[in-house]
Amino acid sequence: MDYYDVIIVGAGPAGIFCALELIAYAQSLKVLIVEQGKDIDRRSCPVNGGRKACISCPECALISGWGGAGAYSDGKLTLSPEIGGFLTRYMEMDALQSLIDYVDGIYVKYGAPDELHGNDFNAMQGVKDLASRNDLIFIPSKIRHIGTDKCRDVLTEMRKAVNGKVDTLFQQDVRRIVVDKKKAVGVRLGDGREIRAGYVILAPGRASSKWLETEAKRLKLTLLKNPVDIGVRVEVPAVVLEPLTRITYEPKMIYYSKKFDDKVRTFCVNPYGEVVKEHLKGLWTVNGHSYSDKKTNNTNFAILSSTFFTEPFNEPISYGTYIARLANFLGGGIIIQRLGDLVKGRRSTPERIARGIVEPTLKDATPGDLSFVLPYRYLSNIVEMLEVLERIAPGINSRHTLLYGVEVKFYSMQIKLTNSLETEVQDLFAIGDGAGVSRGLIQASVSGVIAAREVIRRQKQGG
Ligand SMILES: Cc1cc2nc3c(=O)[nH]c(=O)nc-3n(C[C@H](O)[C@H](O)[C@H](O)COP(=O)(O)OP(=O)(O)OC[C@H]3O[C@@H](n4cnc5c(N)ncnc54)[C@H](O)[C@@H]3O)c2cc1C
Repeated sequence: MDYYDVIIVGAGPAGIFCALELIAYAQSLKVLIVEQGKDIDRRSCPVNGGRKACISCPECALISGWGGAGAYSDGKLTLSPEIGGFLTRYMEMDALQSLIDYVDGIYVKYGAPDELHGNDFNAMQGVKDLASRNDLIFIPSKIRHIGTDKCRDVLTEMRKAVNGKVDTLFQQDVRRIVVDKKKAVGVRLGDGREIRAGYVILAPGRASSKWLETEAKRLKLTLLKNPVDIGVRVEVPAVVLEPLTRITYEPKMIYYSKKFDDKVRTFCVNPYGEVVKEHLKGLWTVNGHSYSDKKTNNTNFAILSSTFFTEPFNEPISYGTYIARLANFLGGGIIIQRLGDLVKGRRSTPERIARGIVEPTLKDATPGDLSFVLPYRYLSNIVEMLEVLERIAPGINSRHTLLYGVEVKFYSMQIKLTNSLETEVQDLFAIGDGAGVSRGLIQASVSGVIAAREVIRRQKQGG
């Protein structure tokens, strides 16, 4: 039977950074990465190749394969401990910031651009003051923008760096974590093979969080509750947000709604970008991209409202899926509506969209009525948030503003972990988005480094 010192499950940013750290500081360790998708040079989505409808490949090339969901992401590296994950649960803010700087340096080493957004302290303070005066909380962050088009190049360089130094198994999924006497001892693959290991590091990403949850329950690991974020993608002329995006690229604002006192936030701002559809296990949801060298006339961002369900209901993922399915059911995919139509209680039609001053960048959304899809609570939160944002970005609450729905962000359930991200099973680590510790490239990457450093520390101490 094959034996490895370390098996990493998943080749997304969490798994890749874990491998990079291991090969940099523990060359003697025998490391295997198991990835259910394809290698970076073989990843391609047939829809991107010109086909209209998703053909539901067994493994979606957009989120699986070397680079994980990161390969086709916008490549926005958010360099603040307050954004993109929950690692502050496991360490002090300063320690996390220094790890963020460390992984950021590695992204630059492999080709991320030198330019940093949000570096002008006085201008950032100005945005913060403006937000505070208008009922909003601004979360300042420096951002390095790789761009969807360049992300692949950076990941290709990382792939070259591990080539020959770790073993890789592509198009093979791990079905079962093998545990003996409360200690991880290996994994069982989809083809039935079992591979033994000293340490197993799980980095399966959000798309496989259900699989991880099932395994966690089988292994009797403690699971913690998570919220679900539901909302819409908003599209406006880029000039509307330009005074803010010029300063901070990603103006992250938090608002507590007057009516429901819910946390509502802006998320994933794409200056001069485009709205895209995202296919996740049979569902269409909406997202946004921006490119480093291709610009549209619009800026898009999400407005998301968080819900934390309490007793007796505890199925946030099913709830979000249900809402997204309803939008797909009514709109045949993504629904688009002008804000003015939503507020007036009428559906948008192709003619009304065509009369608007914002030309949609997502061409195959269906003009419709989001009020048939989103519960009142979410609609109310979204409309309130746009009214408040109008005070800091005049024009955002225009009747021409486009809303695409729905955007749903599922948080993977959290597994109870130690500060070095080890589960209650010895030598079994869980990192990245799938384990519920991160929600973005930077914190996913940091989580990989944390697990790798713990393995290295134990190896140095003799196992
Ligand atoms: C459209 C889009 C845009 C985004 N834009 C940004 C952005 O601009 N900035 C940002 O910070 N974040 C962004 N994100 C989020 C970011 O991509 C993720 O936070 C990050 O990729 C998480 O890394 P991960 O390694 O935890 O998981 P993933 O990247 O999801 O990788 C997990 C890997 O594990 C593999 N896997 C899963 N289960 C198994 C199994 N059982 N056996 C073997 N392999 C398995 C999967 O195939 C996958 O390749 C975006 C995400 C999407 C979808």
